[in-house]
Amino acid sequence: MFTRSRKHLTQWLMLTMGSVFVVFGGLLYVVEVDRELHKLDQQLYREAELMISSSGADSSPNPTYPVQFEVKTLPLLGGKTLSITSDLVYARWYDTNNHLLMFFGPLSGDRRDIQPGYTTLVHEGQRLRQMTVPIESEGQTLGHLELATALVPVETALNQIRLVLSVGLPVGVGLIGLLSWWFAGQVMRPIQLSYQRLEQFSADASHELRSPVASILSQAELGLMTASPQEQVARLQRIAELAQSMGRLINSLLLLVSSDRWSGNQRCNLTALIKDLSREFQPQAAAKGLWWRLELPQAALWVNGETELLRQAITNLLSNACRYTTTGEVALSLSHRLGQVIVTVHDSGIGIPAADLPHVFDRFYRVDKARSRHTGGFGLGLAIAQQIVQAHHGTLQVVSTENQGSTFTISLPLLPPALAQPQPASPQTSAYKTSS
Ligand code: ADP
Repeated sequence: MFTRSRKHLTQWLMLTMGSVFVVFGGLLYVVEVDRELHKLDQQLYREAELMISSSGADSSPNPTYPVQFEVKTLPLLGGKTLSITSDLVYARWYDTNNHLLMFFGPLSGDRRDIQPGYTTLVHEGQRLRQMTVPIESEGQTLGHLELATALVPVETALNQIRLVLSVGLPVGVGLIGLLSWWFAGQVMRPIQLSYQRLEQFSADASHELRSPVASILSQAELGLMTASPQEQVARLQRIAELAQSMGRLINSLLLLVSSDRWSGNQRCNLTALIKDLSREFQPQAAAKGLWWRLELPQAALWVNGETELLRQAITNLLSNACRYTTTGEVALSLSHRLGQVIVTVHDSGIGIPAADLPHVFDRFYRVDKARSRHTGGFGLGLAIAQQIVQAHHGTLQVVSTENQGSTFTISLPLLPPALAQPQPASPQTSAYKTSS
């Protein structure tokens, strides 16, 4: 599917860019034709000016006319020194009655109207550029001068341009094709990646939902088959538990889909949030006989962020810490360093094996599926936490040693004091055992 889309995109890019390239080449050629002809015309004009370098000659028909001359014997009129450099094919001077007075080069047999201006014509199989100019002196028209030169220099220049274009255009279009293919690949890659991620996510989510649905169905069928009211109650209780678990999974999935859509214009007092979370989790730790340690800075630390999303991220880390720790301590700390706010969740629990560490932030990844399911985990908590932190331009890192414990560290850009709302916070560092 993506290869077909890439091909289509390449074709369209090639068509548009190729057309622009071809039109540009055509325009270049037309401009060049015009430029070369203009150059030749100017040269002809300059030579006409040189020939008519003075006036005063008798232009009336004379029995000895037409007189043939050589370019070397120029000027026709006057006595200035001339330098005719071009390859003139012919030059003809007509009087006002179009009688030929003087000429150089071959004579044309046909009688034509003599019209001032430039024209391109074929003479004895050779393409010529001809110019006709009126000869005027003291406001009086003496006749017309007709000059013609071969178009060979123009044709040579244009042939070269045609050659360059005929080689350059296909090569250019080919290059455009290659570039378009590469560009289409670059454009398609993120789309392909997000499509693959979406596919994987849908597959994982349906897989996770399939087993509780199957369990609910079998519990219901067994409950319907049995006549014992106690067993039916037990099965209904199990169905309720499974439905609750499914509800949690669906909530996590919804959170995962929406947690990276943070609008970016709220501010969060992390000191207050951490205090609040400490109050919430301390009893949980106490219930398991764990030490609870809390470290807070003197000042209130603010970040750009949505409080509820950040609460969710830290909650996921704290509930994991409590869940995967049976003895020892759980510590929550907040500090700041080099413009970053650091939130640390440390536990002395079972830790994560080194081989699993690179994958723990993947969606639906569980180190030990059986144990995680037993503790109600779907392998989404860390993925959600990471997604939230990244949406807040922060990082989430983990250091863990099996059977020794884990430390999760969130870094978020500290909001400059000028932008943060001042909120005094008293220095607090506490370490106490919260046994039940
Ligand atoms: P779950 O909801 O299944 O716990 P998480 O995404 O929160 O999913 O965690 C992924 C896996 O990482 C878990 O299966 C668990 O094995 C491991 N894990 C996460 N936090 C800790 C921790 N503090 N101590 C030990 N293992 C942890």
